[in-house]
Amino acid sequence: MLQEEFLNVLGISRENPGAFAGEWRQPSGNWIDSCSPHDGELIGRVAASSIEDYEVAIEVSRAAFGEWRNWPAPRRGEVVRQIGDALREKREALGALVALETGKIVAEGVGEVQEMIDIADFSVGLSRQLYGLTIQSERPGHRMFEQWQPLGVVGCISAFNFPVAVWSWNALVAAVCGDSVLWKPASPTPLCAVAVQKIVQPVIEANGAPPIFNLVVGHPDPVGEALLADRRIPLVSATGSCRLGRRVAEVVGKRLGRSLLELGGNNAIIVTESADLDLALRGVLFGAVGTAGQRCTSTRRLFLHEGIADEMEKRLVEAYRQVAIGDPLDPSTLMGPLINEGAVDEMLAAVEKIKEQGGEILIGGGRHREGVPAGGHYVEPTLVRARHDMPIVHDETFAPILYLIRYRDLDEVIEWHNEVPQGLSSAIFTTDVRESEQFLSPAGSDCGIANVNIGTSGAEIGGAFGGEKDTGGGRESGSDSWKAYMRRQTCTVNGSGELPLAQGIRFG
Ligand code: NAD
Repeated sequence: MLQEEFLNVLGISRENPGAFAGEWRQPSGNWIDSCSPHDGELIGRVAASSIEDYEVAIEVSRAAFGEWRNWPAPRRGEVVRQIGDALREKREALGALVALETGKIVAEGVGEVQEMIDIADFSVGLSRQLYGLTIQSERPGHRMFEQWQPLGVVGCISAFNFPVAVWSWNALVAAVCGDSVLWKPASPTPLCAVAVQKIVQPVIEANGAPPIFNLVVGHPDPVGEALLADRRIPLVSATGSCRLGRRVAEVVGKRLGRSLLELGGNNAIIVTESADLDLALRGVLFGAVGTAGQRCTSTRRLFLHEGIADEMEKRLVEAYRQVAIGDPLDPSTLMGPLINEGAVDEMLAAVEKIKEQGGEILIGGGRHREGVPAGGHYVEPTLVRARHDMPIVHDETFAPILYLIRYRDLDEVIEWHNEVPQGLSSAIFTTDVRESEQFLSPAGSDCGIANVNIGTSGAEIGGAFGGEKDTGGGRESGSDSWKAYMRRQTCTVNGSGELPLAQGIRFG
């Protein structure tokens, strides 16, 4: 699909409103430019939301919640089902916009929209569940049970690298739970947010539903900070860097609100001596080079048993030489650009630190210029021979840098694996069941996600997604993550005609 064609399908123009509060708000005069990471060219502009826009959006979201919470959950699910269908219709167009605006390759852009569709389907099923427990009462003629109530307005802050899927993990689950959602997307990817709003709003209106999905496009100051501090928002779900998470924890924690944090990762794969190396190579390549290393689950550390390390290193260098780098909208491309010049600078600074700290660059380490526009933010996928205890290895550099670290002993490498501050995704490649069981034991991987013979990135929506330690501890998407979007109510009903107190207390 040509750029004009898919922008047209999505209703994206050169200048777009950026605040939705039941209806699109008039632009306030400040604009956020959205530029393609491929060539630096302006794709379009989105009006930055003002604090007045924010105030109207939160009040509209509150009023919508007041009505929506009374809709039976399966009716709410029916609206989400139709949103899934609307996304199916625009899957290719929205996937292409994701590729254009983030620089991820088009197959991954379309995959991201598929993930939205999958979570819509999941949420529809959920809308007929949202189960509570019954509990045995110690008092005669009494009945105890738990029920799950809608929570309120959920604030959703999303990162640039998953500009549409993160919204859906939160918003579609929250919607069947009876909540409304106020979204603040990342400023490098505002057009994706406008496009999603334009896809879902007609469905909301066609069903006579209140405006449960609202949008403020802007920077942390003023709208992001306003959202954190706002007591009208009982839950802030924030996806982004650990720095963002610390700020959210501080501000939301201070007002005793709830936060759901999905933060940075520093994910590792262990390849043991028994591993199927063909499989491992494919898993490592997708994990480390996919999305140009800009996934929270990207593989950053590779622990190689010394018996297979030379062989894997050789194969990896060979494979890295062949990675097709270029236009993310070209279907033959495997790796697109980084999001912006700031990201390129951060990668180059990390490469300097690697050298200072004694790392050896095996391939890559610089800008990529061949066959790409001068204004693009392209870098080379980079392999580094490193030690596990180099300080830079413990940081998340949001770029395609992979550290190769040799090990001898599984106990020791699991310690090295767990010694970083982050705890998102992890994997082991092995054909020895004792090794995989050790990795999955309580003394094994300390991450929220632990895979065997699968790389670190590319999770399915059916599981709870998230990580431990500095990754923030939040869980989103599948399994019972929905509980974060509801409030639990413990109810006791006395049908006995007597008033016995708990613990046998006699009073008066
Ligand atoms: P970022 O932290 O710079 O920004 C994320 C979002 O937070 C943006 O919308 C930004 O505007 C907002 N924000 C920043 N400061 C804020 C403040 N003070 N108040 C309110 N909002 C504020 O992250 P990024 O560069 O967009 O994304 C990359 C990071 O996100 C990486 O660290 C990556 O690992 C992480 N990430 C984590 C997950 C996960 O599920 N664990 C998923 C995707 C990305």
